[in-house]
Amino acid sequence: MTPAGVTACWSCRGPVTAGDLFCDTCEAIQPPRPVDPFTRLDLEPGFEVAPEHLDRCYFDLQRRLHPDRFATKTSRERAISVALTADINLAYETLQDPVKRAIALLEMQGVTIHAEGCNTMSDPVLLMEAMEQREALAEAETSDQVETIAAVATREKTDCLAELAEAFNTSDLSAADRLTTRLKYLMKFEDELRAARIRFSQTT
Ligand SMILES: [Zn+2]
Repeated sequence: MTPAGVTACWSCRGPVTAGDLFCDTCEAIQPPRPVDPFTRLDLEPGFEVAPEHLDRCYFDLQRRLHPDRFATKTSRERAISVALTADINLAYETLQDPVKRAIALLEMQGVTIHAEGCNTMSDPVLLMEAMEQREALAEAETSDQVETIAAVATREKTDCLAELAEAFNTSDLSAADRLTTRLKYLMKFEDELRAARIRFSQTT
């Protein structure tokens, strides 16, 4: 019996596992299979990912799949390398973004995030805070007032990221779920702050 996640190489029928790029037996490139972004990039799953480590894994894989390496291969192998590159780019994008990274981790543990935006935030305290913050920003009359709001939001985001890391480290999935929604809001609010800054820089 073959162990879970092991399939046969399309070329030599040797054993390959889901995240493998190449067959160990014949070295043929393997078509992408649905794997989580951590497996795709050959990283340990976790919320805390050092950007330089992520970059190193990503660029290493990009090098191994560089089109020049497939110039003399069959069209099938070239097509597979293109599909794999797209998958790797997507995994990289996912892991670079803390909200997408958190959602991926939750999904890997069977939790689906449904909340889109803040209108559907199920946490009433969070919803209230968000409304007040938005209201304050809408009423800001000077760029100093915007900067005061921005300073608070930046601190909240730093705290939220630390709490989220802690929630994943301790496998507290309900806290991770709630904090992911909060982080999503805080990052959206950052965009609104950016827009407000542009508005003030144009009028003053
Ligand atoms: Zn093979």
